[in-house]
Amino acid sequence: MDRSDESFRELVRALAEKTTNEFNVNLNQVYFRKMKSKWGSCSKRKNLTINTLLKYLPTNLIEYVVFHEITHLKEKKHNERFWRIVSKKFKNYEEMEKNLFIYWFLIQQRKL
Ligand SMILES: [Zn+2]
Repeated sequence: MDRSDESFRELVRALAEKTTNEFNVNLNQVYFRKMKSKWGSCSKRKNLTINTLLKYLPTNLIEYVVFHEITHLKEKKHNERFWRIVSKKFKNYEEMEKNLFIYWFLIQQRKL
């Protein structure tokens, strides 16, 4: 996916804002950095960190990662409640998780 850093950041910020409004939760900051073990994270201090490598992925997966991470502001663990919330928006969340896993390997092998 040919996407500029700027348009990627804009997209993530817009998605984050949309989701925090939907959930009525507050987010402090959105950070971008290259991460070695995950696509994103959401801290106790309500900071969202997004892996900059995500910019090479299809838009629907970027949407999914942002939604997934912000859902962690409501539920920290990957428990039944967490997946119930995620599935309201992404019925195909299992497929999304699988695709993220596949892309992770593609990126590591620099096939993207
Ligand atoms: Zn998670």
